[in-house]
Amino acid sequence: MRILDLRLRLRALGASPDHEARVLRQWVNAQPQDAGKRRLSDFLPLALRNALPQVTADLAGLATLQSEHPGEDGSARLLVALNDGQTVESVLLPRDGLCVSTQVGCAVGCVFCMTGRDGLLRQVGSAEIVAQVALARSKRFVKKVVFMGMGEPAHNLDNVMEAIDLLGTAGGIGHKNLVFSTVGDHRVFERLPQGPVRPALALSLHSTKDALRRELLPRAPRIAPDELVELGERYARATGYPIQYQWTLLDGINDGDDEIDGIVRLLKGKYALMNMIPYNTNEGLGFARPAPEKAAAIARTLQSRGVLTKLRQSAGQDVEGGCGQLRARSVDGGAV
Ligand code: SF4
Repeated sequence: MRILDLRLRLRALGASPDHEARVLRQWVNAQPQDAGKRRLSDFLPLALRNALPQVTADLAGLATLQSEHPGEDGSARLLVALNDGQTVESVLLPRDGLCVSTQVGCAVGCVFCMTGRDGLLRQVGSAEIVAQVALARSKRFVKKVVFMGMGEPAHNLDNVMEAIDLLGTAGGIGHKNLVFSTVGDHRVFERLPQGPVRPALALSLHSTKDALRRELLPRAPRIAPDELVELGERYARATGYPIQYQWTLLDGINDGDDEIDGIVRLLKGKYALMNMIPYNTNEGLGFARPAPEKAAAIARTLQSRGVLTKLRQSAGQDVEGGCGQLRARSVDGGAV
C-alpha cells in the first residue's frame, strides 16, 4: 500500500489537508488515539471520525510484529509480517536508530548477503515502510531511520521517496537522520536532490576495482567506482552531509594493499566517511571476516592516509540482524 492511497482514502472521507496531516502524524509517531487533552477524532469531520477506528486498524495491519530477537548490544531484530503474509525484518539499533526493509528479497544478489539469495519477491509499499517505523516507535524512541534492511531502495524508488518525505515531515525525523543506502544507480542521483526531504546517502562500494565489484555485486547498475564517487561527491556538496561509503571486509578478497591504495586515491579529500564493516558470518556463502587486528590496521592506515574511516561492527550480529544477514523468514525463524 502506498501513502498516496491512504491520503486519497482520507480525502474521500472528507479530510482537509490539516485533518490528513493530523491522522498521518499520529500514525507515524505511534501516538495513542487519546493523546493530549483532546482526542484526534474530535477534530475530524463526521465521516472520517466514524471511519477512523477502521483506518487505524488497517494501518496497524500493514506491519505486525511476529517475533523479536534482542541482541546483546541493545539492538533487536524484528520479524514483521506484511498484510499479505510476506515477511520483512527491521532492526532496532542502539542509539535510537531503526533499520527498515524496502523490498521482500532483493534483485542485486550481492554474493555475501542472504537477502538476495532468492531474488526479489515483491516491493514494500511506502505505507508499509512507514508502518515499520510506527511499529518500532510503539516499542521505543526512534530518531534515525536507515534504509539498509532487506532490499535495494533504488529499485523501489517511488515508494522509498514517498516514505522519506513523510518521515522527514510528519514523522519529525531530521533529514540527515534518514539514510538512503544503495549500491548506486543513476536514478538515485537524479531524484534525491529534487525531493523536499533530501536524505543522507550511503553508497555500498566494497571494491575500488570495477571487475571485482561486478563479481561481488553481480546485478548492480554498471557504474564504475570512480564515477560513483564523483556522483556521491556532488550530492554530498549539494546537501552538506558527507557520503557514507560502506565496505564489507572479506578476508583475502577486498582487504589487500591494492584496495587501500584505491580507497585513498578515490576518497582522499572527498566529503566522505568510510565505514569498514567486517563480514557477518552467513553459513554456506564461503566468505570469512579478516582477523580483528588486520581490520583494525586497515582502518588505521586509511585514517593516517587522509580518509576518515570507522571500523564498525554491525549491530545485532548475534541475532542475525547484522548487515547481509536479513532475509524473509518464517515465524519459527527459518528462511521461507
Ligand atoms: Fe540487496 Fe543490499 Fe543484500 Fe546487496 S547487500 S543483495 S543490495 S539487500
